[in-house]
Amino acid sequence: MIRIQFDHSYQRDLPDACIAVAPEPPPAPALLYWNAPLAEELGITLGDTDDAMVARLFSGAELPEGAEPVAQAYAGHQFGGFSPTLGDGRALLLGEVLDPQGRRYDLAFKGSGRTPFSRRGDGKAAVGPMLRELVIGEAMHALGIPTTRALAVVATGERILRERALPGAVLTRVAASHIRVGTFQFFAAHGDHETLQALADYTIARHYPELAGSKTPYLALLEAACERQAALIARWMHAGFIHGVMNTDNMTLSGETIDYGPCAFMDAYDSATVFSSIDREGRYAYGNQPLIAPWNLARLAEALLVLMAPDDPASAVPAATEVIQGFAACYRRHWLVQATRKLGLTAEREGDAGLADDWVALLAAAHADHTLAWRHLADAAEGDAAPLTALFADAAQLNAWLPRWRARLAEEPGSVQDSAARMRAANPLYIPRNHLVEEALLAASAHDDLAPLLRLLEVVRAPYTFRPGLDRYALPPAPELAEGYRTFCGT
Ligand code: AMP
Ligand code: MG
Repeated sequence: MIRIQFDHSYQRDLPDACIAVAPEPPPAPALLYWNAPLAEELGITLGDTDDAMVARLFSGAELPEGAEPVAQAYAGHQFGGFSPTLGDGRALLLGEVLDPQGRRYDLAFKGSGRTPFSRRGDGKAAVGPMLRELVIGEAMHALGIPTTRALAVVATGERILRERALPGAVLTRVAASHIRVGTFQFFAAHGDHETLQALADYTIARHYPELAGSKTPYLALLEAACERQAALIARWMHAGFIHGVMNTDNMTLSGETIDYGPCAFMDAYDSATVFSSIDREGRYAYGNQPLIAPWNLARLAEALLVLMAPDDPASAVPAATEVIQGFAACYRRHWLVQATRKLGLTAEREGDAGLADDWVALLAAAHADHTLAWRHLADAAEGDAAPLTALFADAAQLNAWLPRWRARLAEEPGSVQDSAARMRAANPLYIPRNHLVEEALLAASAHDDLAPLLRLLEVVRAPYTFRPGLDRYALPPAPELAEGYRTFCGT
């Protein structure tokens, strides 16, 4: 029997922040994927539970013992417009588990049916997008980027109606928590300051325990959340990751990436890259992400004002504003730490920032493949600049930059081979490129063939390690495939 020791601190501490809802039992659950490595990290063992039972337990046909499903309330700014009541319209928190190190994680369903927050939605999810969430989450995790992850994906045996009928699925998501900027906005917007304060205290206890003794805990919470987001977005940018829907309900307080919808990794560098079909104005384009994050955090700040200064919230504005205005510098710090590491430099010195900025300007001007350009720097360090140069139609400016970088690299301790090895550990070779993801999802969703997906998972789980025979996973798509690539919400 599968044993999961559930706790329910969110429900217990914040009873007004969620509603008990039972999942809709699916007609014919079938296990598509069980994330054994993640289960092991969480200390969840299947024992003699067979796939059919796992499928039932992780789709809502039955529930793991101790699960108490609730829909969580939240609000959110979606593409700049505020909705005071969004909430889990197709998700349910089953409860929390503690891993062997005592770290607390949410286990939650996505696609398990309607809730009081469903509005006009059907509460369902399709196989393709749930498998996408699995692959991207595992890739992000392997890249060292904080993320929610998929524990299981179960096909429901039901066809759900989107632009056309699609096979349905339920994803079981593991997250440090599902507390979002929008969760704070919900209680602020509804004038429930008691729950708002309980939520802030809960968030501090769960994610920022070091702030518990602060004299200004809510300002400190804002500051700490900004710091984590700055670190997160810096990592996104270095990975070429585009979230696609950076609404405030899709930004966590834990600092994890959440809600993989029309997200994608960029091939050729272009800060205007947008993949989402619904983002017509490019609000969430690659290059805008470091600007959208503080915009979202300003919404968090607004929600927290009444806790910072209950008698006169407006008096808290200057201090909160200062924190938000500090985001840019904080982001820049995090970005530079990563950039210097990726350039093979062990500690930042004067001039390194310029070196990094000039390098990125080169990528942008040439629309060079983002992942390969960084990766091939290691070869260039060892004296073989050809793979790098091949990514540039005109290498004149690159050839002016390379000697500057080589001179700087020569100041580093150790051999060039040491530097190259460090760089290969910081610059991935294998990312889940869109054309590979689409190919794998199509095989799974239209032809019931999971082999390409399993293969892709295996590749992106070791993104830094070159393996022979995997060239097609390392290369950008043929130009006709990259042109006009769009991910449809298709949710
Ligand atoms: P998302 O765009 O996935 O971040 O979701 C935004 C909001 O729409 C959340 O409140 C979701 O719960 C809700 N939502 C998305 N898809 C559905 C669906 N198929 N049925 C009900 N609610 C949904
Ligand atoms: Mg969402």
